[in-house]
Amino acid sequence: MAWKVLPLLALLVMGGVAWSIQSIYHEREKRFRHQAEWELQAINQLQTKSVSEWRERRWSDAMALSDDTAYAQAVARWLASPSEPQALSVLNRLRILQERARYSAVYLVDPQGRLRLSPGEGAQGTLPALEMQALERALSQAQAIPLEPRRDAFFAFPFFGLLAPLFDGMEPVGAVWLVSDVRATLYPLLEYWPTPSKTAESALVQRSADAVEFLSPLRHHPHGSQPLHLLPLTQKDNPAVQAASGERGILYGHDYRGEEVLSMVSTVPDSPWLVVSKVDVAEAFGEMRTREWLALSLPVTLALLLVGLMAAHWQWRARRRERALKVALERNMRWLENGQKAAAIGYFAYEPERKEFLMSGMASQVFGLRPDGRMTRRQWLGTLHRDDREQVLAAHEQSLQQRTALQLQYRIRRANDQQMRWVQVWCEYETDTAPHHTTRMTGTVQDITERKQSEQELTHYRAALEAQVRLDPLTDVANRLALDEAVAREWHRTLRNGTPLSLLMVDVDHFKAYNDHYGHVAGDHTLQQVAQALATSVGREGDLVARYGGEEFAVLLPNTDAPQALALAQRMTHAVRALRIEHLAAPGHQHVTVSIGGACVHPALPTACAAQPTALQNALGPLSATEVAQTLFEQADAALYDAKKAGRDQVVFFSPTPSAPLPTCATTEP
Ligand code: GH3
Ligand code: MG
Ligand code: MG
Repeated sequence: MAWKVLPLLALLVMGGVAWSIQSIYHEREKRFRHQAEWELQAINQLQTKSVSEWRERRWSDAMALSDDTAYAQAVARWLASPSEPQALSVLNRLRILQERARYSAVYLVDPQGRLRLSPGEGAQGTLPALEMQALERALSQAQAIPLEPRRDAFFAFPFFGLLAPLFDGMEPVGAVWLVSDVRATLYPLLEYWPTPSKTAESALVQRSADAVEFLSPLRHHPHGSQPLHLLPLTQKDNPAVQAASGERGILYGHDYRGEEVLSMVSTVPDSPWLVVSKVDVAEAFGEMRTREWLALSLPVTLALLLVGLMAAHWQWRARRRERALKVALERNMRWLENGQKAAAIGYFAYEPERKEFLMSGMASQVFGLRPDGRMTRRQWLGTLHRDDREQVLAAHEQSLQQRTALQLQYRIRRANDQQMRWVQVWCEYETDTAPHHTTRMTGTVQDITERKQSEQELTHYRAALEAQVRLDPLTDVANRLALDEAVAREWHRTLRNGTPLSLLMVDVDHFKAYNDHYGHVAGDHTLQQVAQALATSVGREGDLVARYGGEEFAVLLPNTDAPQALALAQRMTHAVRALRIEHLAAPGHQHVTVSIGGACVHPALPTACAAQPTALQNALGPLSATEVAQTLFEQADAALYDAKKAGRDQVVFFSPTPSAPLPTCATTEP
């Protein structure tokens, strides 16, 4: 989330900064513009004032001359009769005037326009044409007439002239022509600039018909030193033209060079003169702009640098994280590979479209394939053990149908050495978005042959152990434990199936005497032989011969009724007799014999046998297996006792009532 919002936030902040910088910049520019305009205005007014004073000074000199009647009379006298002393007094006045006001030339002119006297070099000739006209006007209007600065062949310099008429009463006596070299006295006033500037300049202009006339030289004009240019009024963008058209104050436009300029226009009072001061906008604001931009671009640069650094930092961290993840992934892959090797587990993926398994190195090794990472379905089917093939395919089919994980153990014939191996496979089918469309199956395979072998060995061992636990070590027939289990099991079967169950108790006759006579070792050997004889006598599956204890054996006969049991018992006495084991210690006998007591239980036939659980059940309620077994043993024991009493080497079957005849019970040696 943060990585989405942060750039947006940064953008917003940067936008805000840019906006405030922009407004600060505009504010400052406005202020600076005002300051520049104010400065220009001040200089322009200063210059206009000095120009005005310069002109006024000349004007007042002319007025003073015109007003000086005494001087006019002196001039008139001298004109009437020119004499040296009078000439001197007339000239004196002019000389003082010239020296004090630094006129370039001062001439006394007679009413016809002839130059008559001058403080400098001699005066000869007549006034130039323009001055001649001005003289006429001055005399007729009785007032001084100015002549605007211009170049004329009369002087080697541009000059400003004033013709001050002289009157003796009402009589015009002549005039004084006051000539000022504008280069020396007027232009410096315009050229003076209080602050250092490369482009600033002021020009004195005036309108003449349909043009602007420049009365002062232009600093940057190719013919700058030559004043008196003319500029057509059509160039409306030019500040001088604007000034001539009547505009005053601060103006913006393009000057004669085509440069954008800031200018100020003032009128020189009592004259047609205008002072146009100007400075290049580039200079006036350029420096300030550069300074401002520098000042303002600094925070922007810093901000950008910061953002750049942050971005670089992010990038660096992302790279580092990526690298760390890569390293971790590689390590995990290595672990996985090593783990698989150690556990002999390989992984695979099955692509149904290509009918091909992609195998890890370990998986290839398990199947005995080259480690090229591939196994076709055909190859796989080829490895399956004949006996497991059907079951494996069925399990896969079921897993595919039910989308369940599959765990299987089956045998394969390894491809490279044809060895039979056990494998354990765990796999799962993946599905794509299309319903029930199998994309592929992934899983693991492990060679479990060794484990399987030890499992099998263990099973065998366990079975052997189990058997041993139920075997009598001396005689190799079943022991009491096996007998008890068999009785319980067979009793349940008897109840279930309604079949008879018989029990024979076998006891060796006069065995104490045998031991005493032949010794225990011989006794043991005899017991083994008797047990063998009994075991070979039973023929049906389920019949069990067990050593009951000492020299007594029990024979459990499932699904055997009393007559069948009796017959078997007799076969057993015959079999023992047939062993012909010498027994001289037995009274009246020469061989080892056995006595047998029998009993039978038959749930379906209440009167058939001695033990009648139905009758007992009626009397005592339901009997447990232990109770029935106990009854059966007691009855067989009782019958055995009877057999012993009756002389041994015979079979007696238990009868429920002592008076009742035994069902063909007693047998004697034939
Ligand atoms: P009868 O049964 O005919 O009445 O006489 P009997 O001598 O057999 O009497 P009894 O059953 O009381 O004697 C059992 C004898 O069997 C006692 C013992 O010396 C002998 N015996 C019991 N177990 C073993 C055994 O494992 N090995 C040997 N050698 N003798 C045993
Ligand atoms: Mg006994
Ligand atoms: Mg005995």
